[in-house]
Amino acid sequence: MTRRRKIYEGKAKILYEGPEPGTIVQYFKDDATAGNGAKKGTITGKGVLNNRISEYLMLQLSEINIPTHFIRRLNMREQLVKSVEIIPLEIVVRNVAAGSIVKRLGLDEGKKLPRPIVEYYLKNDELNDPLVLEDHITTFNWATLQEMDEIVSYTLRINDFLRGLFAGIGIRLIDFKLEYGRLWKDDEFHIVLADEISPDNCRFWDMASGEKLDKDRFRRDLGKVEEAYQEIARRLKIIPEKKFEVIESSNPEHME
Ligand code: C5P
Repeated sequence: MTRRRKIYEGKAKILYEGPEPGTIVQYFKDDATAGNGAKKGTITGKGVLNNRISEYLMLQLSEINIPTHFIRRLNMREQLVKSVEIIPLEIVVRNVAAGSIVKRLGLDEGKKLPRPIVEYYLKNDELNDPLVLEDHITTFNWATLQEMDEIVSYTLRINDFLRGLFAGIGIRLIDFKLEYGRLWKDDEFHIVLADEISPDNCRFWDMASGEKLDKDRFRRDLGKVEEAYQEIARRLKIIPEKKFEVIESSNPEHME
C-alpha cells in the first residue's frame, strides 16, 4: 500500500493527489457540519451515498453537455476528478423560498419564487461566506464577466434539468449550491462544474408529504437524517429498495 499526499481536508471531503497528473481523488467523509462548523456530527453512510449520488448526477449532466470535473468513481468513498482551479464562489440557485433567503427577506418558507434566483457567496469561512454581487466578483478578480456569464448559463441549465429529474421521482428541488473551477485545455481556461451535488448541498422536499430529505434534517435536528440520504439514493435507483447497509471498502490514508 502506498501513502498518498493529502492536498486539502474540508468539512465533508478530503482531496488527495491523483494517480495521474492533473487528477485528484475526492474522498467523501461521513462528517457533517452546519452553521459554518458551529454544529458538528456524523451521518453514518453519508460519504458512501454522496459519492454515488454525485457520480450519478454529474454523469447525467455530462449527457446534456455540461462540462464537469468528474472522471470516474474509484470505490465506495472515492472518485477521481480533474484537478481544477476552484473559483472561490458558491453559486446558489433557488426555486422555492427556504433557508437563508427566508430570514434575509422575510419570505414564507415554501413560497414558490416567480423565477429561479441565482445568488453568489464568497467562499470564506472567516467571513461566514458573505453574499456578494457580480460587481464585487469582477472588481476583486474572483472571476471575469465572461466566466460569470458562462457560470450563470450552466447553472440555469443544470437547474432546469435537475428539477425535471427530481420531479420524476417525486421530489421538489427547492435550492442547491454549485461550485465551478477553471480547467486549462487547448491553450485556454474552460469553466467546469466541480465539487459535488448531493443532499449535503441541495434542499429536497418530498412532493407528496413535504418532508425534508436533505441536510436540513441534521441542521435542524429533525431526526431520520441517514434515512433521508438513503431515500434520495433509493429513488434515484442508486441503491436497492431493501435496507441499505454501509460496507466499508477503503481507508482514507491508503490507496486501494
Ligand atoms: O443556507 P441557504 O439557504 O443560503 O442555502 C442555500 C442552498 O445552498 C442549500 O441547498 C444549502 O444546502 C446550500 N449550501 C451549501 N453550502 C453552504 C451554504 C449553502 O451547500 N455553505
